Amino acid sequence: MNTILKTNITVKEICDGFVYNELEGKGLFGLSGKLTIQPEYQRNYIYASDGGKREMAVIESVLKEYPIGLIYFNKVSNDKFEVLDGQQRITSLGRFITDKFAIKDENGMEQYFGGMAKDKQKKLLETKLLIYECAGTESQIKEWFRTINIAGVPLNNQELLNAVYSGPFVTKAKEEFSNSQNANIQKWSAYISGSANRQEFLECALDWVSKGNIGDYMSKHRKDENIDESKKYFNTVIDWVSSVFTDVESEMRGLEWGRLYEEYHKEKYNPTKVSAGVRKLYGDFFVKDKRGIFEYILGGGNDIKLLNIRIFDEPTKRAVYEKQTREAETKKKSNCSLCAVGHDVNKEKIWSFGEMEADHVSAWSKGGATSAKNCEMLCRTHNRAKGNR
Ligand SMILES: [Zn+2]
Repeated sequence: MNTILKTNITVKEICDGFVYNELEGKGLFGLSGKLTIQPEYQRNYIYASDGGKREMAVIESVLKEYPIGLIYFNKVSNDKFEVLDGQQRITSLGRFITDKFAIKDENGMEQYFGGMAKDKQKKLLETKLLIYECAGTESQIKEWFRTINIAGVPLNNQELLNAVYSGPFVTKAKEEFSNSQNANIQKWSAYISGSANRQEFLECALDWVSKGNIGDYMSKHRKDENIDESKKYFNTVIDWVSSVFTDVESEMRGLEWGRLYEEYHKEKYNPTKVSAGVRKLYGDFFVKDKRGIFEYILGGGNDIKLLNIRIFDEPTKRAVYEKQTREAETKKKSNCSLCAVGHDVNKEKIWSFGEMEADHVSAWSKGGATSAKNCEMLCRTHNRAKGNR
């Protein structure tokens, strides 16, 4: 790979012909049309999110003459370049110069480029950037791109995969899953956490259809002209979830719906009963893990571990231990009721508090409450042998 360091290209030149596409959330061109700011394998523009702090910081850095770091171009042909690294910074500059956002001046007042003093405008436009022009084969460039981290926000895994497996499939998949204008995003957001811009819906769709092998799947489908399979599978999972669980709860976001679909979609569910079951568990003080409710119900209410049932508190356990131990000592029997009825050496053993665990006399699953009345201390061995807690 061949690289040349350029130190005389100005902000003004870079931003000449700059276009920002609101719909796609991308900065498109610069350098009088010679520069593609947003090649296919680049992620969307994210410096405007979180209130635009990062794009404002780029402008403030330039105005204060702080360095904004190296920028890398890929030389595609004699007169054509693509931004390899620096796309976010260049888009910030372009958006500012075209009055897409304002910075705050010394007095905290909003200031757009168009309203700035002429000398300040000039200073910004004449700032020179440090740019490496790289020429190499596609695989060299991509290999290298994979290894760099963009200053500020590192590429996440899906953004890297999009870069590595760029092609017609990624383009089509991004149109569907990474487009924040897609009307389905709101519906998807009930079940999937993350944002379209950071490729999290795309990642989820590919994760589901590939059963967790996203890289292999993208490699295999790289040249596909359609995304029918992944789109169909994704919609099937979403439709299944929304038909089984008719109420949307915030804890449903980000659950492993792909896996749950595979495990349970052949079971029959009555949505009215499911809904009542969900309501009941949401109202149950002892259910600590609300996120576990959905899988618990899908599995027929057998796997109590999913709910992380609240256990007895320390004072309750202490009080029960003292009472049990006093009684055991008078009877000359073990303070573990199961040891006491046994025939081994432990039948008269007085366990210390630390050697015992609390058990629900009547199991939670059978309606037992977590009050002292329903608490019994057992030795660890017996408690663990009892299971179902
Ligand atoms: Zn015991």
